[in-house]
Amino acid sequence: MEQSLTRLVQAQRLEERLVVLQRRADGLPVELSERGAQVSALEAEIDQADAERRAALSKAQDLENEVRTREQRVAKLEKQVLETRDASSAKVAEHEAGELRVRSAEAQDQALGLLERAETLQARAAEVRVRVAAAREDLEQFRATVEADAAGLREEIESYTARRDALLATLDGATRDHFAVVGKRTPGKIVTPLKGDSCGGCGTRMVPNDAVRVRAKNACFRCPSCARFLVSPEIWAAAEQESSASS
Ligand SMILES: [Zn+2]
Repeated sequence: MEQSLTRLVQAQRLEERLVVLQRRADGLPVELSERGAQVSALEAEIDQADAERRAALSKAQDLENEVRTREQRVAKLEKQVLETRDASSAKVAEHEAGELRVRSAEAQDQALGLLERAETLQARAAEVRVRVAAAREDLEQFRATVEADAAGLREEIESYTARRDALLATLDGATRDHFAVVGKRTPGKIVTPLKGDSCGGCGTRMVPNDAVRVRAKNACFRCPSCARFLVSPEIWAAAEQESSASS
């Protein structure tokens, strides 16, 4: 029985390690996709800057077209002023030409602002393009590392799984089943030593009889509160020594 309990603890140690390895393996694709998302965000920033720049240039062009049309109208009005003999109609034409000149000046200022904005956007897009190129290169390197890490982790997981299963195979069916059930509920925390008279896992104090049974090391005892296997501290320590000797 003592040997079975020791194996149970060793299986738990391997399980604990497996949980860590599995978490790391699961985390790699997440990290990879997060980095991919960062690159995509930078690419979106470039698209945004390019779109804004095109809009600014097109608006500036519209304004310049309006200015040109107004200039033609102003030239016509100026001609009218020179040619007319009617003072009041000359005044009306002068007034209109004046207003058009003011509006054109405003539109030219606006167009100039838009051209400056387009230049700023172009510079920003160029700067982000450089960053994207670097980020893409980083991502590719990271992807290669992740693939190597994942392959290493897979191998380790397979080896730990085989060792754990070999240990579990020596135990009876009910113990194996219970091991699996607790492992699902509290991954990597299936066996725990007795600490004083309490469960080392959940801290529940055992009734004296149960503590005696655990210390006797002749039965597979389970904590009535957290359902973990409860072993004597000696078994726990012995299993640890054997594990570190074998690994
Ligand atoms: Zn417990």
